[in-house]
Amino acid sequence: MTTVYYEKDADPGLIHRRKVAIIGFGSQGHAHAMNLKDSGVDVVVGLREGSRREGTAAAAGIKVVTPADAAEWADVIMVLVPDQYQQSLYAETIAPRLNSGDALLFAHGFSVRFGYVNPPPDVDVAMVAPKGPGHLVRRQFVEGSGVPSLVAIHQDATGEAKKLALSYAHGIGGTRAGVIETTFSDEAETDLFGEQVILCGGIDSMIRAAFETLTEAGYPDEMAYFEVLHELKLIVDLLFEGGISWMRHSVSDTAEYGDIVSGPRIVTAETKAVMKEILGEIQSGEFARNWMAENDAGTPNLLAARAAVANHPVEVVGRKLRAMMPFLNEKSPEDDI
Ligand code: NAD
Ligand code: MG
Repeated sequence: MTTVYYEKDADPGLIHRRKVAIIGFGSQGHAHAMNLKDSGVDVVVGLREGSRREGTAAAAGIKVVTPADAAEWADVIMVLVPDQYQQSLYAETIAPRLNSGDALLFAHGFSVRFGYVNPPPDVDVAMVAPKGPGHLVRRQFVEGSGVPSLVAIHQDATGEAKKLALSYAHGIGGTRAGVIETTFSDEAETDLFGEQVILCGGIDSMIRAAFETLTEAGYPDEMAYFEVLHELKLIVDLLFEGGISWMRHSVSDTAEYGDIVSGPRIVTAETKAVMKEILGEIQSGEFARNWMAENDAGTPNLLAARAAVANHPVEVVGRKLRAMMPFLNEKSPEDDI
């Protein structure tokens, strides 16, 4: 059985006796830093010189220093920069400043699981990963509740790694909702699998293929957009609220019958075999190696794919239709924090 920790299982005092550096002030970083500060924890944020987030952190009353100064000062270091930059950040800035008994924390298992960060044996290495975006982690905390989180221990040098991680989770509000125990491997592998096979890769490939099928058959782009992209939100909300049975219960009987006769023809035994192949590439580290190599090369494939999808007809018509629906409160990638 999976172990779940709550408020009563955490000692809030442990993290109050430590000096915490949050490296990065993005989605997760801003929420962790602000929640810890409000919990009375001694926290600084490490940001690169000239980072556009510097003003935001300072405005929130949080001390901002360089990542090197933060790592030097702290005895608990939470790494909240994007996964692909953690290897060099760790090697150049954090590793030289780690002392025996320090704790190195992560919100995702990628770098440790796939060997891009290898801390010395006298340092605690743990994961505290809220299962939600930073703005939700912050909002729930302010409202007096929290977001369910994961905790995992990679290395317990002090014998207190789990207590410390739970105390940190308490400080950001995670234990209010429940903190589920996992491992770096399970978290990293299932997270990558989910985003590749369904959440990002599966869904967005399916949207484009379905849009192309309708428009190639002569249906208007606008109709195709509403049916294969826009309405997805209604369905996802139903799945989120009550699972597959609730979704099937809430749609028309016609839609439900269409689901059971056509769904299995879209996702076939062959599709599942490919899912297993993708899982194998994640587990073997092949995906991680390819992703890090892509970064070393300056992300040519990522940049080309971004440019290409922006010109796909589903994106072109989508921009036009969303402009007619200002109530959707359209987000651009720059808006997120
Ligand atoms: P983000 O892109 O929102 O923010 C990254 C921050 O790091 C920014 O402030 C950026 O300026 C800074 N940064 C980038 N490179 C840096 C460097 N070399 N040195 C110092 N600062 C640097 O990232 P995020 O989404 O908050 O992700 C952080 C971690 O949290 C990742 O491990 C991610 O997997 C994990 N995580 C994210 C979410 C989520 O919903 N976003 C949820 C759970 C876990
Ligand atoms: Mg995920």
